[in-house]
Amino acid sequence: MRSIATFDLQYAHRFYRFRGEAQYLHGHTGRLTIEVEDTVNPGVNMVFPCNEIQKTAWSLLKNFDHALILREDDPLLPAILGVYEKQGIKDGDPTNTMKGFAFKTELATAYPDCRLVVTKETMTVEGMIKIVYDLLKDKLNIAKITFTSGVNAASEEYEPTGTIDRCPLCGIALVDGVCPKCGYKKQK
Ligand SMILES: [Zn+2]
Ligand SMILES: [Zn+2]
Repeated sequence: MRSIATFDLQYAHRFYRFRGEAQYLHGHTGRLTIEVEDTVNPGVNMVFPCNEIQKTAWSLLKNFDHALILREDDPLLPAILGVYEKQGIKDGDPTNTMKGFAFKTELATAYPDCRLVVTKETMTVEGMIKIVYDLLKDKLNIAKITFTSGVNAASEEYEPTGTIDRCPLCGIALVDGVCPKCGYKKQK
């Protein structure tokens, strides 16, 4: 069975060198859906608590919300960083508080201090799905990711790998046989 979590992401981007209006900087509210597949955990009768999927994913996905997403070779990147630098907000500002964990993968690097994500490929809906899977595949048993943004939508299905050992009392993933939330210990 699957547990499904949904996220709204508001971001600005452009398709650098794309022949069309999307080559200009513009914004979207994108909707990301992550489906996590596993056995139903009999203790709590859930695959996985959706608020826990939210928490796990959002700590990283927050980087894409109210953020600017640019490709690494886009000349807007040095231009914008130059303005941020001059203004003294490139390395953070006390009012910039909704920050995700900084991350760096093959496909994307997040700079939470200036609300910027730099991507290797153009950040289309397909590109976003690749980035999200790469970020979360080791943390969640992902079966499907869907991303819609404006009139664009894409989805990809994955073969979930094995089963995650979960707490029978609160449903979250056990760490070395112990529940990080309630302290439940798995009988060996
Ligand atoms: Zn767009
Ligand atoms: Zn627990």
